[in-house]
Amino acid sequence: MIKVLDIRIEKTTSPKEKPDANHLDFGALFTDHMFVMDYDINKGWYNPRIEPYQPLTLDPSAMVFHYGQEMFEGMKAYKGVHNEVLLFRPEKNIERTNKTNDRICIPKIDEEDMLQAIRTFVDLEKDWIPEADGTALYIRPFIIATDPYLGVRPSNTYKFMIIACPVGAYYTEGINPVKIWVETEFVRAVPGGVGEAKTGGNYAASIKAQMKAKERGYTQVLWLDGVERKFVEEVGTMNVFFKIDGEIITPELTGSILAGVTRNSVIELLNQWNQKVTERRITIDEIYEAHKEGLLEEVFGTGTAAVISPVGELNYNGNIITINNNEIGPLSQQIYDTITGIQTGAIEDTFGWTLKV
Ligand SMILES: *Cc1c(COP(=O)(O)O)cnc(C)c1O
Repeated sequence: MIKVLDIRIEKTTSPKEKPDANHLDFGALFTDHMFVMDYDINKGWYNPRIEPYQPLTLDPSAMVFHYGQEMFEGMKAYKGVHNEVLLFRPEKNIERTNKTNDRICIPKIDEEDMLQAIRTFVDLEKDWIPEADGTALYIRPFIIATDPYLGVRPSNTYKFMIIACPVGAYYTEGINPVKIWVETEFVRAVPGGVGEAKTGGNYAASIKAQMKAKERGYTQVLWLDGVERKFVEEVGTMNVFFKIDGEIITPELTGSILAGVTRNSVIELLNQWNQKVTERRITIDEIYEAHKEGLLEEVFGTGTAAVISPVGELNYNGNIITINNNEIGPLSQQIYDTITGIQTGAIEDTFGWTLKV
């Protein structure tokens, strides 16, 4: 028997004006509707619906406000070259949802149901997908604990929601490398903690270091491991790759690193190109050493928002190094062009990564 969600749709009677795709702030403007589904320990997930985008009414004692039992995902829908609507590896985000849920003690969501919810919602909002090069509709599924209760335990009730916002091109005048502050005081995650779960607490814990980097003129921080503070983990809210003497290295997933969909796509792409990728622990000293020997060729972050974000400068305890003359490297550019090409259908998808809505 095929189980299908019976999604009730209530359309807005006052649709918003679509924004100018050339002037979009990331995450500041939302589409006309939202998907909502409730959970109750006695009923499971129930009442899937799409409603006009609107504020929620929640009890001030709702558990999410106090102990942060929540999860979120981030993915994009693209207007393809033939005007079709394309999702990029949504099954990966769905799989990760349930991994996060497991860690945060949120009940699992049926994978087919979640995919159907995303497709139905995106299809309804498809006129919101901007069409200019590099633009997309950013999709934010999330779950919050809603029990009105101040005791510490898993909630018995939850809300699963999907909201979306049109996002402009991340890069408008070519890809600019960013300056990165290597953070030695604050850490993002520790083994056994929630670093590999996509949950808000990780972000709350990271803001202070981000501010510190900003004050010093840096765009983001490079996170070191929480125990020895020498192994590189992530860059800002992205995974990180290094090209050293022809070899591509990315930190292995040791439990405190978020397993990015883009990270995985970059590894699979490089494997297809017969480029050696090594997933292993790598220290910041090894990276500085490689730079000293002239072997550090490229450094880049990977994530849904930017796809590839080249690193042009690192500052570690006042030692500043410049990477690839502060320009995007050829490999970073090639990966960026290929992945964004696949996402919009401009390049043939031999991986089966895209899904038509
Ligand atoms: C979401 C996220 C990433 C990137 O994951 P993608 O699936 O590639 O978007 C990397 N690090 C952190 C901490 C994240 O939250």
